[in-house]
Amino acid sequence: MKIESLVIHGGIDGDDKTGAVNVPVYQTSTYKQPSFGENKGYEYSRTGNPTREALEKLIADLEHGYAGFAFASGMAAITAVLSLFKAGNKIIISNNVYGGTFRVLDKIFNNFDIGYKIVDTTNLEDIKNNIDEDVKAIYIETPTNPLMDITDIEAVSKIAKEKGIFTIVDNTFMTPYLQKPITLGTDIVIHSATKYLGGHSDVVSGLVVVNNEELATKLHFIQNSTGGVLAPFDSFLLIRGIKTLAVRMDRHNENSKVISEYLKNRDEIDKVYYPGFEDHPGHEIQVKQAKGYGGVISFVLNDKVDYKKFLSSLKLITFGESLGGVESLICHPASMTHAAIPYEIRQKVGIVDNLIRLSVGIENASDLLEDLTQALKESI
Ligand SMILES: *Cc1c(COP(=O)(O)O)cnc(C)c1O
Repeated sequence: MKIESLVIHGGIDGDDKTGAVNVPVYQTSTYKQPSFGENKGYEYSRTGNPTREALEKLIADLEHGYAGFAFASGMAAITAVLSLFKAGNKIIISNNVYGGTFRVLDKIFNNFDIGYKIVDTTNLEDIKNNIDEDVKAIYIETPTNPLMDITDIEAVSKIAKEKGIFTIVDNTFMTPYLQKPITLGTDIVIHSATKYLGGHSDVVSGLVVVNNEELATKLHFIQNSTGGVLAPFDSFLLIRGIKTLAVRMDRHNENSKVISEYLKNRDEIDKVYYPGFEDHPGHEIQVKQAKGYGGVISFVLNDKVDYKKFLSSLKLITFGESLGGVESLICHPASMTHAAIPYEIRQKVGIVDNLIRLSVGIENASDLLEDLTQALKESI
């Protein structure tokens, strides 16, 4: 089945018992056991819940993985994956991974002696040079947030396989509609499903997909032991959101193409980060490994523009955290998503104060252009 159909019919399609076309919300914590030592496949909803299971099967199908797991947030999903490692282990991470991922490694897992090495994962030699006997995984995001660096998933997975270590990809920005890391050799895929998979800015959730039975057994043990599971109603919302993933991503792709061209041609803007541009250093890899460029664009306003005024002048585009919703969302990385990174490091990596991140929604592109134009005029 093609992915446009799979988003609607993958996983568990409807309800056999009643014919309902949607999986019911099994709002229950426990299950009646018909007789001693017997159950109908469920005992307690932390361990397993039919609505959550439908979602878990769906994401496993979409990512071409062995099994899926649903968590109460992207960070709970990432925490569960990092719990696979032991004291003394180290993980290579991309040099601009999601701030929360860096924070949980630096402030929590570090306490348990699980370390990290920050590497420019766009540079394969750098990765190879940093793999020593303590390194057990390479953790990448591609494109990165907010600077849209592209890492070659297939090449990294190959290096990892040769060394007998895991590749983990946070696929939040692309979704399986645009990019399927497991088909490129990755072992574990993570999502903040809060973003494009949910797609409506109404549910916080995380998903993990693994590529084999051994990892599935370990991940289920961690999920059940640590307990950060997604609630039945939120699982239902996510299944509902995923049904329109293909049409939404097509529109995100189309709109961001139009808007990136517009931004590139404006005098008020110095630089636009968008992997769809042919002169983007990762463009060819992006074309090879993904079906589109996604909906996130970052850009640097020039010195004549008051960025605070620009953000406050927007009328249609929502100024706020998060991304991947049907509505366009805009944020200021230096003071919001990346505020925890020290000023000097931010300057060095390019997260300057004039940098803006735009998550292009699925509105009519001309309305978005009109809003950007009036806000730029207001803020000179
Ligand atoms: C938002 C995000 C996360 C964290 O997910 P939550 O659902 O907010 O916990 C992780 N990775 C990426 C790339 C994100 O954008």
